[in-house]
Amino acid sequence: MSTKRKQESQVPAEESDQLTIRPLGAGQEVGRSCIMLEFKGKKIMLDCGIHPGLSGMDALPFVDLIEADEIDLLLISHFHLDHCGALPWFLQKTSFKGRCFMTHATKAIYRWLLSDYIKVSNIATEQMLYTEADLEASMDKIETINFHEEKDVLGIKFWAYNAGHVLGAAMFMIEIAGVKILYTGDFSRQEDRHLMAAEIPTVHPDVLITESTYGTHIHEKREERESRFTNLVHDIVNRGGRCLIPVFALGRAQELLLILDEYWSQHPDLHDIPIYYASSLAKKCMAVYQTYINAMNEKIRRQIAINNPFVFKHISNLKVSLLKRIVWKFTNLDIFSL
Ligand SMILES: [Zn+2]
Repeated sequence: MSTKRKQESQVPAEESDQLTIRPLGAGQEVGRSCIMLEFKGKKIMLDCGIHPGLSGMDALPFVDLIEADEIDLLLISHFHLDHCGALPWFLQKTSFKGRCFMTHATKAIYRWLLSDYIKVSNIATEQMLYTEADLEASMDKIETINFHEEKDVLGIKFWAYNAGHVLGAAMFMIEIAGVKILYTGDFSRQEDRHLMAAEIPTVHPDVLITESTYGTHIHEKREERESRFTNLVHDIVNRGGRCLIPVFALGRAQELLLILDEYWSQHPDLHDIPIYYASSLAKKCMAVYQTYINAMNEKIRRQIAINNPFVFKHISNLKVSLLKRIVWKFTNLDIFSL
């Protein structure tokens, strides 16, 4: 069908030509990304997140509007909770019997991130959506896909592009009966310390479903943001202060550690000031980051030939219990949030 004809015909010639897109979450809200696609009798779910501000069943996408056992395919874009936090529940507690895909790095970090989410969920056991055992069992039901690898499930063709954003994040192109739909999930068009910018697909999608949390907001330039951050840290430690930096989003923590380690390397006067990161989750995920260097940008891949940039020279890991003691000891503590 030509583009012109497509624009002219608002009403499909036959009902089977109708493409239905139904957000079960993240529609005019932030969080619990979950979108249903229906076309030519095929049903596809895109992401299965939780709402970070809600707990228990309230945090789920509106899955009661659909029949889980009718879904053919479930694609997960990346490891953030608002995109995959409901997945163990959906795979283990519903009648879903379709196939589920994500990239290798996403699957590796999903395991640790959700395990941490179960541990830190401060709600009654009976309200918990799933247990560690459910999470473990869900791993066998998740298949992996490489970037640019084409898969076919019941005539639904799909492949993944690099989305930037966080390690393993994918944008999916889905093709059914020649119609192509691009689902971006969260993406970033700016290269950062370790990730490449989101790819621009070489094929044209007919339909685009995209992340729009920041709308038309223009972010401050990465270089400016970074030097504002490193200058602030430098000023604080120079006047004898300490910095405590809460970083809630995994991926962001790794990026900040890379920035600080590089900055410390360039400033010998800072070498006797230690940097610690205190997160058992970040430590576990660091092994994944060290493994999936190939999914990162050219800079990191070049650097790996010399040494692994995720084996930091100036940063060491700290047990959380030790951090608490140190925090109490601080008299002039500078806390800032990023
Ligand atoms: Zn995200």
